[in-house]
Amino acid sequence: MKLLENISLKSYNTYGMDVKARWFAELRSDEDIADFYSTISLEQLPVLILGGGSNVLFTKDFPGSIAYIRSKGIVKLMEDDRHIYLKIAAGEVWDDVVNYTVDNGWGGIENLSMIPGSIGAAPVQNIGAYGVEIKDVIWSVEVADIAARHYRAFRPADCDFGYRSSIFKKQGKDRLVVTSVCLKLDKQPVLNIDYGDIRIELEKSGIMQPTIADVRNTIMAIRRRKLPDPAVIGNAGSFFKNPIVTAEELESLTSDHPGIVAFAHNDSFKLAAAWLIEQCGWKGFREGDAGVHPHQPLVLVNYGAATGKDILHLANRIIESVNARFGVSLEPEVLVV
Ligand SMILES: Cc1cc2nc3c(=O)[nH]c(=O)nc-3n(C[C@H](O)[C@H](O)[C@H](O)COP(=O)(O)OP(=O)(O)OC[C@H]3O[C@@H](n4cnc5c(N)ncnc54)[C@H](O)[C@@H]3O)c2cc1C
Repeated sequence: MKLLENISLKSYNTYGMDVKARWFAELRSDEDIADFYSTISLEQLPVLILGGGSNVLFTKDFPGSIAYIRSKGIVKLMEDDRHIYLKIAAGEVWDDVVNYTVDNGWGGIENLSMIPGSIGAAPVQNIGAYGVEIKDVIWSVEVADIAARHYRAFRPADCDFGYRSSIFKKQGKDRLVVTSVCLKLDKQPVLNIDYGDIRIELEKSGIMQPTIADVRNTIMAIRRRKLPDPAVIGNAGSFFKNPIVTAEELESLTSDHPGIVAFAHNDSFKLAAAWLIEQCGWKGFREGDAGVHPHQPLVLVNYGAATGKDILHLANRIIESVNARFGVSLEPEVLVV
C-alpha cells in the first residue's frame, strides 16, 4: 500500500472533475485497508472511501486521504438446489459481476445491468433500477469497522436499507468500509419484467419466453438510449432522489397540479423528480458547460469544462425552483464533496 501525495482525481470520477486529493492510496486487499487506516495520521483526515466515483461530485480539492478500493475476487460460498451464494470483493466492477452471474444463469441482479461503479458501493446507496434493489439479493455485507478496528458482517436486517440509503451511507459513513458483499442468487430465476418498457421491448424483439440474458440485453439497450454515457459526457446518473410524500400530500399536490407523476412506494408515494424538474423548464438547459440532460432531466451533465461548483450551483437553482413551484424539496442522490 503506497500513500501518494497531491493526486489528480480527474480519472477517478465520472464527472471528470479535475480536483486534487492531498493523499491517495489504492487498496487491493483487506490487509491494504488495515494498513491504510493504521498509516494515516490525524492530520491526513478526513478520509473518503472511493469506488468507481460514479456517484460523487467533487467541488474542490480534497484535503484528506482517499481510500480507493480495488480488491478483486469472486468466491462461491455455498450452493443448494435453488440458490448460489457468492462472496465478491468490494473492488470488483458491478456490471462485470452482473455479466458473470447472467452468463452462469444465476438470477437476481440482471435488472441492475449497466449501473456503473463497484460492488462495495452497491449496498451503500442500495442501488436500484427496473423494480429491483440490491437489498433483495444481499445475504451479508462484510465491513472493516475503522473506529472499532475490527471486521464484521452485517445481515440485511442490520443494514437499515431504504430508498437509495443504508446504514453505510448514514451512521456508518466513512467509518464502515465495505470489504465484500455476499449475494444470494437464484438458480431457477424468476423474471421481473413488469417494470418500465422491458416487457414491451422484449415483445418487439419477438422474445416471448425471455431468459435473464434477454432481460439484461434489453435493459442495456434501453439504458444506452436513455442515459448519457459518462465516457462521453460527464455525469453521475440521477442527481436527485425522487421525493417521498404521504397520500394526503399527494392528494393536495394533485389538486394543484393535475399532471403530477407519482408511484406507490411502501405506504407512501414517490414523486417523479424528472417531471417536477421538466415542469420548471430545466430540461435541456445549459449554462457554460453545466447542463440538464436534454432527454433525462434528472441527470446533470458536464459538457467538458464545468467545475463541481458550476454543477452544484445549477443543482441549487433547480432545488429552489421546484420548491417555489411545488413546495417539494429535492434531495441530491449524489455525494457532494
Ligand atoms: C450513467 C449512470 C447511471 C447510473 N444509474 C444508476 C441506477 O440505475 N441506479 C442506481 O442506484 N445508481 C445509479 N448510478 C449511480 C452509481 O452508479 C451508483 O451509486 C454506484 O453504486 C456507485 O458506485 P461507485 O463505486 O462509483 O461509488 P462511488 O461514487 O465511488 O462512491 C459512492 C458512495 O459510496 C461510498 N463507497 C464507495 N465504495 C465504498 C466501500 N467499499 N465501502 C464503503 N463506502 C463506499 C463512497 O464513500 C460514496 O459515499 C448511476 C450513475 C451513472 C454515472
